[in-house]
Amino acid sequence: MSEIFDCIIVGGGPAGLAAALYASRDRYKTVVLEKFMPGGQINNTDRIENYPGIERIDGPGLIQNMQKQAESFGAEIKTGREVEKLEKQKDGNIILSCGKENFSARVVILTPGSDYRKLGVPGEDKFRGSGVSYCGTCDAPFFRGKHVVAIGGGNTAVEETLHLVKFAQKVTMIHRREEFRASKVLVEELLAKANEPNSNLVIKYNTVAAEILGDKKVQSIQLKNVKDDSIEDYPCDGVFVFVGMVPNTGFLKGFVELTEQGFIKCDFAYLRTSVPGVFAAGDCRVGAAMQLATASGDGVVAAMMMKQYLRDPKWWNIKASDSLQSGGW
Ligand SMILES: Cc1cc2nc3c(=O)[nH]c(=O)nc-3n(C[C@H](O)[C@H](O)[C@H](O)COP(=O)(O)OP(=O)(O)OC[C@H]3O[C@@H](n4cnc5c(N)ncnc54)[C@H](O)[C@@H]3O)c2cc1C
Repeated sequence: MSEIFDCIIVGGGPAGLAAALYASRDRYKTVVLEKFMPGGQINNTDRIENYPGIERIDGPGLIQNMQKQAESFGAEIKTGREVEKLEKQKDGNIILSCGKENFSARVVILTPGSDYRKLGVPGEDKFRGSGVSYCGTCDAPFFRGKHVVAIGGGNTAVEETLHLVKFAQKVTMIHRREEFRASKVLVEELLAKANEPNSNLVIKYNTVAAEILGDKKVQSIQLKNVKDDSIEDYPCDGVFVFVGMVPNTGFLKGFVELTEQGFIKCDFAYLRTSVPGVFAAGDCRVGAAMQLATASGDGVVAAMMMKQYLRDPKWWNIKASDSLQSGGW
């Protein structure tokens, strides 16, 4: 391991590829370590309509462009490299281990993303992308005039359901408990919507999904009442699962500070983590908006801030507010 990279990016999703573009274009020696193939979550969709400037594109097509653009400026993208461990050295550099292979960097940008938490019921995997979705903001417009079932009870579930009712002809929200755990103000808004005359929102409490059914696309969901175990076959065109996110940060435990849920703690202005020289970007970080455009934007911010740190490591300790007041960078 003789080579020291200026910047190593962990994860080749949108955040990682955007960071790679900016870092390599600024002539920093940059490598992306990706455990599978470049692309991350967005590879799983064939319809993106909310990336600014691109009316419509499929995930793999967008990723191909992002990868080509980053590589054209010299970024190296190494696939099949799962980062298992990171260590900060006395000289300030960071060692990253992928099995028997080690890499060394002056700056690390962490972009391992998050996965949607699944229900774990039959039919969920089969119909993912054919009626089963985990993102209302992304997919609601594809269900215009349809009947969808939304599942969950937290803030995201309520916000996303309030988004769905603007598109779907009918939304049935199911929740396993008798009360929502989302914030009071959101629950009030949700209940007000459900209580409107001729509302297109129906709420079913004490209800869970037992199975998602269909032929090529979702056609119904089996709903189970947890009080009396009764099962109802409920026709619908789509199922939106809003039961949380699981960040891919297990390998970072003990290296950087994580929230209770496992998201990487960082300051929102500059994306600095608890370890100097290590930034976090995209869906893995606390407060992430979980969108393609915001993940890409995060990658850009981290790569820009890297320059600041490499120019003067003391910058790491400047409070974001002080830095902004003094004109920022
Ligand atoms: C089906 C689907 C449709 C979507 N549609 C839209 C949409 O229309 N619009 C929108 O804005 N958003 C959409 N999203 C959300 C969007 O894909 C994510 O917000 C975005 O991909 C997050 O980017 P990221 O780079 O932070 O993480 P990810 O995309 O999750 O990428 C993380 C990468 O890191 C790699 N990795 C993880 N751990 C390691 C490790 N230890 N070592 C090396 N590599 C590692 C992973 O393999 C992965 O490639 C969709 C998501 C899904 C699943």
